[in-house]
Amino acid sequence: MRRKLAAGNWKMNGSRTALAEVEALIAAHPAPGCEMLLCPPATLIAAMAATAKGGPLKVGGQDCHHKPSGAHTGDLSAAMLAEAGASHVILGHSERRADHGETSALVRQKAEAAKAAGLVAIVCIGETEAERDAGRELDVVGGQLAESLPDAATGADTVIAYEPVWAIGTGRTPSEAQIAAMHRFLRERLVARFGEGGEAFRLLYGGSVKPDNAAAIFAIPDVDGALVGGASLKAGDFGAIITAL
Ligand code: PEP
Repeated sequence: MRRKLAAGNWKMNGSRTALAEVEALIAAHPAPGCEMLLCPPATLIAAMAATAKGGPLKVGGQDCHHKPSGAHTGDLSAAMLAEAGASHVILGHSERRADHGETSALVRQKAEAAKAAGLVAIVCIGETEAERDAGRELDVVGGQLAESLPDAATGADTVIAYEPVWAIGTGRTPSEAQIAAMHRFLRERLVARFGEGGEAFRLLYGGSVKPDNAAAIFAIPDVDGALVGGASLKAGDFGAIITAL
């Protein structure tokens, strides 16, 4: 049985004052029916973890370096995130792939580093609009899945987030049929590679998930939760998504 996951990605937003939203979220959802995770900027991980007090809200990073230490100015290792209070880390988000040239091969190394540090990796994959228009979405996403996941990945240490790039922050979402087709395809690929273990990976949908479309998206087979950007910044909106899950 895959436990549903509502994961929020604050991106480069939020300051210590935003922790009031976290307190409100925890107060409104003391025993959520799903796993609840927020990934703030790295500067807020320790403070958010302190606010969460080991309760139902988990805290994650938005990226990590693939090496454990060394001369990598500005980077953070997976172990550093864990020491700050993170239990998860988002890897290969399309903004990192686009802004920092991250390849699936690098994402795979990062996922290995996350596993070594005891973090759950949320590996992001998704096609651009041009790739979908060209009918290449399965090729692209299937390739990213194959290349980004370590052979040793399991459903316990790895979550996959399908995030069509054209749906992120745009207010546009794929049709329910398009989400269903992609998640079915991903499940088939996971089972083909990992056997029965492929059934254990949670598949999140991400891209303009809001309180008003969450229930319909969560009703789609093989959607095990969501990776939420903008709507995770407000306790009320993220809470409504958690309730829909
Ligand atoms: C994201 O950045 O992962 C995301 C899904 O953003 P939004 O929900 O704002 O589209």
